[in-house]
Amino acid sequence: VRYARAGLELRVPDRFVVFVDAAPSPLSRFGVFLTVVPASFVVSVVWVAVDTAVRHSWLGVDWVNHHVWSVACVAMLASVASTVGALVLAAVHCLPAPSKVRYLFRGALVSALCAVLFLPVARWAFTGAAISQHAAATWGPYLVTVAIGATFGGFYAVLLRVLRLQGEGQYWPARLLAAACAGVAGAGVYADLHFYVAIYTKIHTALEVLSFISAASAVAVILREIALRVPRAPTALGVLAALGAGLSTTTLVSGDLIDSVQEELPHVFREPVYVGRELRRLKNLRTFLIEPSSWAGEESAALAEFEELYGLSATEADSTWTTPSFEFASGPECADCNVLVFYVDTLRNDVALDPTVMPNVAKFAEGAMWFDRAYSTGSDTLASLPGLTGGRYDLDEHSPRPDEDLLEVSKRMGFRRVLSIPRSANEFLTKLHPNFEFDERLEVPDYAPHKQGVWGYGAHIPTAGDLVDVTLSWLREHPDQRFLSWVFNFEVHSWRELDESYVVEAAERANLSMEGDEAWRYRAAAAEVDRHFGRLLEGLEQQGLDKNTIVMVVSDHGEALGEWDFWVHGVALWESLVRVPLLIRIPGVSAAKVEAPVSLTDVAPTLIALLASEPPSGLHPYHGTDLLRLASGKIDRAYPMLFVGRRKEKPVRIGILDSKSSYKLVLPLEVGRPELYDTRRASPDAEDLARAEPMRVAKLIDHLVRSPLYPRPPPVEPSTKP
Ligand SMILES: [Zn+2]
Repeated sequence: VRYARAGLELRVPDRFVVFVDAAPSPLSRFGVFLTVVPASFVVSVVWVAVDTAVRHSWLGVDWVNHHVWSVACVAMLASVASTVGALVLAAVHCLPAPSKVRYLFRGALVSALCAVLFLPVARWAFTGAAISQHAAATWGPYLVTVAIGATFGGFYAVLLRVLRLQGEGQYWPARLLAAACAGVAGAGVYADLHFYVAIYTKIHTALEVLSFISAASAVAVILREIALRVPRAPTALGVLAALGAGLSTTTLVSGDLIDSVQEELPHVFREPVYVGRELRRLKNLRTFLIEPSSWAGEESAALAEFEELYGLSATEADSTWTTPSFEFASGPECADCNVLVFYVDTLRNDVALDPTVMPNVAKFAEGAMWFDRAYSTGSDTLASLPGLTGGRYDLDEHSPRPDEDLLEVSKRMGFRRVLSIPRSANEFLTKLHPNFEFDERLEVPDYAPHKQGVWGYGAHIPTAGDLVDVTLSWLREHPDQRFLSWVFNFEVHSWRELDESYVVEAAERANLSMEGDEAWRYRAAAAEVDRHFGRLLEGLEQQGLDKNTIVMVVSDHGEALGEWDFWVHGVALWESLVRVPLLIRIPGVSAAKVEAPVSLTDVAPTLIALLASEPPSGLHPYHGTDLLRLASGKIDRAYPMLFVGRRKEKPVRIGILDSKSSYKLVLPLEVGRPELYDTRRASPDAEDLARAEPMRVAKLIDHLVRSPLYPRPPPVEPSTKP
């Protein structure tokens, strides 16, 4: 081995050659690891390019500014990660290893490291409702962890072997390995950006880390070939590596750089593809390092920063929210009426009122109180249903049963409460929302008996027709019974899993185009529900029940049909997710289209006001408003409207809508940067107006942080001293 520049010539045993030879430069024997840092810079640029390619919202974003700061942001995180990675690998190689099993030994070390890092994700992956009943929940995480560790360890052993060959001038194995790594990175990025977008964050993190490591390995291997063949390259790589070390130190020691990036990139959190994710990680890393012992998690840090930024000293719940006072007034009563709730889970307002998809609902709207701008209290069932029946924003599936809940009050009034519901939805609600209580549950099968635990997504047997049949026959069999019948349609929710032939037939029957993306399936399912809604109305008429039955069409939340690559509901608070149909046909009350924004919390007090023979006296704890008095202009809405977006039952966004101005403020809790949208625009969620309208933002924040939805630490239990 000749160190030409140093004028040295060494004769050493073969087995040393790989690392000495690996860095034919003044960079020491560990120079090979330093290619990792420059490689991560190259990958940072690729990451920003991917982010650019899939980003949807460019409105108001300065292209050049965005890219300069985005590259800076990703490179900051990449420099920290790759410097730490290079140091760890160098440490692995410092450990003495028996020469005969050197590759195996170092591979095993890397394997063990990866396994330890991956174990929490593997554990989490086996905590789902379905899997936790199987034996796999116990040994599965370890098996997967061992498999992941073995894969990384094996890969590392191969990499070392290939690098040695590369050092000896055989370049092709290394090039092939680099190509394979690039392939894995590409597949990982594709999977990350196309499957379950925005839902399983841990899986997305794992996919992203895998992709980044694969891509960085590919580039590092190629950079090393360049270093071996181009005389000046090692020096250039050394300079880049030193730059990386400097950048990572600066990032960790001073928060100014992160603050500057955040200041320049306020829009990236709206669509956290890659730049937004890296910025969040940078912020977390920084806040964690400042006070590792008292770090209470990402959300607390983000909210603390948010409160400081907006000078919010008081964020305790306002008493007007905690003790709401709704007073019933005598209105157009319907004291002998029955109630029929035609509830369509996951139905968007625009699809419900589209006469080409749901002609019966659209026609029904013309003869009903038509609330064209109704908002749910959340973008998933369990965030919305308790508010719909309870009339409050601070209810969820864990809340104790309120006395003033519509189901509770109707029971006291002597209504027979009957729920027509598909099996999967019934199992889901019985377990997770037991307060959704009825006297009778007419269950309709919606999945094959051999399948176990089909919750939410997964039911494939259509039920829209059967639900109407069981409801009509129950009504026939109970002619003199005062009833509250709740028809719980669930097949629009299961639009992906419904039997193929059924969906195709439904689309053909409704003359819906089956071209383009998957969204036609959703419309086909909605069209079929509409067809049976038409039958239900006819059935009511035949039984003479149309004259004394309040019929309400409502949904709990919408569905994103590919917006921002998101295909389900929950998490976000876009109009497509929180704007729902709300149509109420009341005997003796003339039809009207109401443009004022209303909330699903209005439903319970409105129906109770209609049904009670005498208005209940005193003050009642509803946040909602009487819709009939609101429609006639007799009263104003007492509270702004609230909604919550959750991920796996944990709130991740809270929102507030000012019904007068129609502005909607959304606060992503993990980020703490409010967004402002004008809901009267053609596509309201396309442009964040927070920077343009600071006064509106401040006003809405003021309401939101005093509302029951703002996260607060649990009240401290008074200490019980002996
Ligand atoms: Zn739902």
